[in-house]
Amino acid sequence: MPPDCIFCKIASGEVKSRIEHEDDDIVVFHDLNPHAPVHLLIIPKKHIGRLSECSEDDVHLLGKIQLAAKKIAAKLNIENGFRLVTNNGRNAGQSVDHIHYHLLGGRRMNWPPG
Ligand code: AMP
Repeated sequence: MPPDCIFCKIASGEVKSRIEHEDDDIVVFHDLNPHAPVHLLIIPKKHIGRLSECSEDDVHLLGKIQLAAKKIAAKLNIENGFRLVTNNGRNAGQSVDHIHYHLLGGRRMNWPPG
């Protein structure tokens, strides 16, 4: 784990966050700067920089993230329209180098994204 990784610190509890769900492998917490009525971040506890760094070893983890998104969308009543997105690399808008999936819902979304 890189010593200055903010999401590793959230995963370990060293930095407080508004946690919606947690299990042995992932943490789901509310984004500090929400862009929708529901804006959560889903992260693996394991430090991986971004999707490009994932390997076959991470297949189960990546599947868990998608299923967690589905369950939390149902729990928070945004099943009629939600978006699950990961920004991979600076050009895509990634600002925190620990893989994370934004779960956004509660408003109408535009396409294509900016
Ligand atoms: P990205 O730009 O895709 O890397 O997304 C990083 C997201 O992390 C942004 O939406 C930030 O608002 C969010 N963020 C950064 N630090 C924290 C934190 N300590 N707690 C919750 N969300 C955070």
